[in-house]
Amino acid sequence: MNHASHTDCANRADHAGESLRSCHLCARHCGVNRLAGDLGYCGLDGVSRCFRELLHEAEESCLNPSHQVYFSGCNLRCEYCSVDEWIRDPQAAPPMDISALIHTVAWRRTQGAKTLNLLGGEPTVSLAGILGLLSCIDPDTQVVWNSNMYYSDVTTEYLTGLVDVTLADLKCGNPRCAARLLDAPDYVEVARRNIVQAVQTSEVIIRCLLIPGHQACCLMPTLEWIAETVPQARVSLRADYVPPVQPIFASGAYATQEDYRLAQTHAQRLGLTLIT
Ligand code: SF4
Repeated sequence: MNHASHTDCANRADHAGESLRSCHLCARHCGVNRLAGDLGYCGLDGVSRCFRELLHEAEESCLNPSHQVYFSGCNLRCEYCSVDEWIRDPQAAPPMDISALIHTVAWRRTQGAKTLNLLGGEPTVSLAGILGLLSCIDPDTQVVWNSNMYYSDVTTEYLTGLVDVTLADLKCGNPRCAARLLDAPDYVEVARRNIVQAVQTSEVIIRCLLIPGHQACCLMPTLEWIAETVPQARVSLRADYVPPVQPIFASGAYATQEDYRLAQTHAQRLGLTLIT
């Protein structure tokens, strides 16, 4: 972890837990009382829930082997989501067993885990539980915040000093595509603002998913924005888009080698630091 103490982290966990009485953790600003069982857009009450953990070798090479811990629930509705069942019904996942997870994190490190990779869904919606976990693990753990970046300033404050690497999954390049593909017309504005803040307190890797048909409207403007605004961020071009079974606005095709080559060439011309 960056430079926050266990005590500081535990205090943040307590505050974040209390804040669920009127939840504003993410940019949806639902304001619901999750501790009373009321549900906002993410569909989670006050309990953080995990549906998967594994040691993964297929993240960006600087992060591998990466211990991935998946939290259910999300604040976006990406049409092409690969874990849709845990987003639509997040409370089907078992409640996070913090004692067991603390041991699992330590065990995965003995197996070679270089990073602890917090993801979902979107980890923001489970922030209180995650802060509780971070307050109990080895402070030398390299923490990766694997996020869609659609969160509020409240979450930025809770995270400051705890995250070593922000793995920013930056999706669309304009409000119209963000409304259609993610159900969040303000996504681009919010996510970019949060990336600008993240580069001040952590390393940042920006993932750009190659969605067929969205190169000109989304991918290229995103690469240009990175070059102009956060050139210190490293960029990971991802060609692993999987089309949804019944596409409506998202593409029904896979990304091609030519899609990747064009994106790579454009990123190189812009002087971006590409990683794989
Ligand atoms: S985390 Fe976001 S989506 Fe979930 S209740 Fe809070 S503000 Fe709403």
